[in-house]
Amino acid sequence: MTKRVIECNICGEPLSAATDEELLGQVQRHIEAEHPEEELDEEEAREMISREAYDAGDA
Ligand SMILES: [Zn+2]
Repeated sequence: MTKRVIECNICGEPLSAATDEELLGQVQRHIEAEHPEEELDEEEAREMISREAYDAGDA
């Protein structure tokens, strides 16, 4: 089974989810929790995912 992975473009932490929609939620939660000073709206988060997210297999 593969998952979608993206690395936070601020701290480099890898975030993963089953789908891009879930990944969007992960990114938004991560930014809120870890980088509350950063403003990342949903459109920007979606663009970041479409540009940078990749498939990874479960190890
Ligand atoms: Zn981060």
